[in-house]
Amino acid sequence: MELWQQMIRDSVHTVDQIVEKFNIDRKVAEDLDEFFQARINPYYLSLIRYPGDPIWRQCVPDKIELDDIDSDEDPLMEDAMSPVPNITHRYPDRALFLVTSQCGLYCRFCTRKRKVGDYEKISMKGLESAFQYLEKHTEIRDVIMSGGDPLMLTDAMLEKIIQRLRAIPHIEIIRLGSKMPCVLPHRITPQLCNMLKKYHPIYLNTHFNHPWEITPESSKACTMLADAGIPVGNQMVLMKGVNDNPEVVKELMQKLLRIRVRPYYMYMADETKGANHFRTSIETGLNIIENLRGHTSGLAIPHFVIDAPGGGGKIPLLPNYVVHFDDEKIILRNYQKKIFSYKNYHDSHNPVKTNGKNGSNGKNGKTKQKEIKVTKIELPVLEEVEN
Ligand code: SF4
Repeated sequence: MELWQQMIRDSVHTVDQIVEKFNIDRKVAEDLDEFFQARINPYYLSLIRYPGDPIWRQCVPDKIELDDIDSDEDPLMEDAMSPVPNITHRYPDRALFLVTSQCGLYCRFCTRKRKVGDYEKISMKGLESAFQYLEKHTEIRDVIMSGGDPLMLTDAMLEKIIQRLRAIPHIEIIRLGSKMPCVLPHRITPQLCNMLKKYHPIYLNTHFNHPWEITPESSKACTMLADAGIPVGNQMVLMKGVNDNPEVVKELMQKLLRIRVRPYYMYMADETKGANHFRTSIETGLNIIENLRGHTSGLAIPHFVIDAPGGGGKIPLLPNYVVHFDDEKIILRNYQKKIFSYKNYHDSHNPVKTNGKNGSNGKNGKTKQKEIKVTKIELPVLEEVEN
């Protein structure tokens, strides 16, 4: 058994352990156990500094989770957009492929709380129909392996799945969605990296939420992945009492860059059953971005998004930097609240003759130039979507 597997085995996960370790009322612990799995491995447990700190809040079951037990289980409608078991196909050219229900830690804020830890809900039995779906759908060029956490599989099992994906000619990119570099970095071994790098291009998105998660162990794991040529991105969830503070987020983003992890997304927390207590106001998120942009390197700034309830996908949000915009100019304010004007320029003033040589789709190498005349900005008619 490898070290990371021993640490999974030694995790806190039973009602008795939770009651004893965290001094939680037994009835509450039993009620929580009925709805949501708990697993706190010894490494992540060691990061807790005091009860209720940002690490504790992310992993220790809390009776507040029972307050919104009637909320939506699947706000992103992943199950409704699942054509076959284990696949969610929401966007045109990419698909989510759930390969296991298991995780190195069960996060209290997880969007898939309804599924993680339950072998019945993400079963290996569904893999064959998932592969067949991916083979048949030639428009899919990017597969995101998730779960659960795909790095909970053994190297051998993971390699079998990746080999099968690599045998599908239209799949160009394989992405791993894994929290292991953060919650159980011992999983990132030289053997794993050597196996993964045979199947490039492989990307990995991980999930650090607080600067205390950047430790010598997690730094080493991320560096090993980067050395294996695997670009690592980070998806942070904005959470009350964890990271709803511009200084904390700035420190996290800067530290991530130092360990060669590129901040990718900062999500508003989803409206998920048992996790609504983590939600913050949208202004909190906008204020964080406002305090990053211009104040630190652009490399350190993630896309701030809402994963739209009802399956609308990720929608970006930005503080408002546009003061005025018309045919002639745009008036902008910068991070210091200073105002600047930039003259508008319409392509119709000076059409570029490319003859298709810029890779455009002009037929027979000829690109038809269309005269575009912008007279005013028309706002689209908004359609309200019922969830
Ligand atoms: S590791 Fe990911 S899938 Fe697993 S519980 Fe945490 S957030 Fe959810």
